[in-house]
Amino acid sequence: MDGEATTKLRETLRGTLIARGEADYDEARKLYNGMIDKRPALIARCADVADVIAAVNFGRDNDLRIAIRGGGHNGPGLGSVNDGLVIDMSMMKGVRVDPAARTARVGPGCTQGDLDHATHAFGLATPAGIISTTGIAGLTLSGGHGYLSRKYGLTIDNLIEADVVLADGSFVTVDKDRDPDLFWALRGGGGNFGVVTSFVFRLHPVSMVFGGPIAFDYKHARTIMQRYRDVLPAAPEELGVFLGLKTVLSSPPFPEELWGKRMCLLMCCYDGSEEAGAKALAPLLDGLPEPWFNWMGMMPYPAVQSMFDGLYPKGMQWYWRGDFVRTLPDEAIDAHLAQAEQSPSELSLMHLYPIDGAVHRVGAGDTAWNCRDATWSMVIAGIDPDPQKAGPISRWAKSYWDAVHPFDLGGAYPNFMMDDEGQARLKATYGDNYARLAAVKSKYDRANLFRVNQNIEPAA
Ligand SMILES: Cc1cc2nc3c(=O)[nH]c(=O)nc-3n(C[C@H](O)[C@H](O)[C@H](O)COP(=O)(O)OP(=O)(O)OC[C@H]3O[C@@H](n4cnc5c(N)ncnc54)[C@H](O)[C@@H]3O)c2cc1C
Repeated sequence: MDGEATTKLRETLRGTLIARGEADYDEARKLYNGMIDKRPALIARCADVADVIAAVNFGRDNDLRIAIRGGGHNGPGLGSVNDGLVIDMSMMKGVRVDPAARTARVGPGCTQGDLDHATHAFGLATPAGIISTTGIAGLTLSGGHGYLSRKYGLTIDNLIEADVVLADGSFVTVDKDRDPDLFWALRGGGGNFGVVTSFVFRLHPVSMVFGGPIAFDYKHARTIMQRYRDVLPAAPEELGVFLGLKTVLSSPPFPEELWGKRMCLLMCCYDGSEEAGAKALAPLLDGLPEPWFNWMGMMPYPAVQSMFDGLYPKGMQWYWRGDFVRTLPDEAIDAHLAQAEQSPSELSLMHLYPIDGAVHRVGAGDTAWNCRDATWSMVIAGIDPDPQKAGPISRWAKSYWDAVHPFDLGGAYPNFMMDDEGQARLKATYGDNYARLAAVKSKYDRANLFRVNQNIEPAA
């Protein structure tokens, strides 16, 4: 690498450039997934769009592999790269809410929690995932699903504008009328097309919700899964519920007599009052065995969004596999139960997130996110704080996935994929949209400068 060019970049940036061996390097390169240990040559902590342009130009002109980092939460660590340049957006925070227009302009360094915090003050929110420390950028660009998705769609369904620095260092603002192909591709195609430096989201009136976990003894899991399968898709769209096959953690606040026991969890969030929520939940819960605990209550929306934060801090070992699921026949449920009960650690889990309601009302070709006819997005995650467990948790997640995949669709939510799943999986995920994505990639990034991601290869 050209030392003079590096010095010049350092002098140009309003943010900071961190090189190997420098004081902050080891802290700056850490990712959420402690299993991934990458050593970039340089980390450019950008302060503004000018910094991003300088970093993109530097990376391209010096033939460096470029990784774009938002919240650093990506499973396979695609927010970093060995020996290359990390364009780290974490300093570029800031949310401006326009309460009259019900929109928010969001910096690419924001976490979901930053966004929820800012919009909650106005009694507004947009759909996003279930852990507040997740970066809004990576989550959005590959789709984004959460408790509000049944009512208000994916995060991308609420994206109305984005600012992007392209591979040639130029800057564009895109929306449905300006560079519509690029705007289409950004909504699900991941970080393939440029560095997004600002997002504008549509907001909805969401303030207090009736939410919390309901945990059942694992021996009832088959019944709970069948009920969830049969009832949730027809439930009011205000009700977001994901199902988990998990273990009660051996720590407070869980009752000590349950520590280490396997459970089936319904994690619920009703956008409305307790009374209306209880009514919406009744067909799901009526006649089911008594839960071990039901901790539902009225709470601010950001509280339900951050409920799991403390249980999943940065730095643990993660290996995950996902799939889109259309139907859950009893044989599939049995396969799940047989695998889940072999989980090698208390934190390891399987979650089924609903993909229906408003998500289905957007056409498969309207955004890059093709799989609009799935019913659930499934994730199997092997998780443990101990690096010695990396092998067992990865093997468990893979063999669990092998057992249930025959019942699932071919593709998966790209944010639930590792980096060892191959192009065929990505093509199955994007289906008929893949060819258009490859054409857009070819138009905006023909040399595949942005390839540290779930990569769409540019069309020839
Ligand atoms: C504990 C946990 C819970 C999760 N729960 C959910 C959930 O409920 N719903 C859900 O939808 N997802 C969920 N996810 C998945 C999450 O969406 C992905 O991990 C996502 O990649 C995180 O985004 P990030 O910005 O933190 O990631 P990073 O690692 O920073 O970036 C990931 C990728 O995003 C792209 N990228 C990031 N920023 C930019 C940018 N500014 N411009 C262009 N490209 C960019 C790049 O390709 C990069 O490689 C969860 C993840 C974790 C770890």
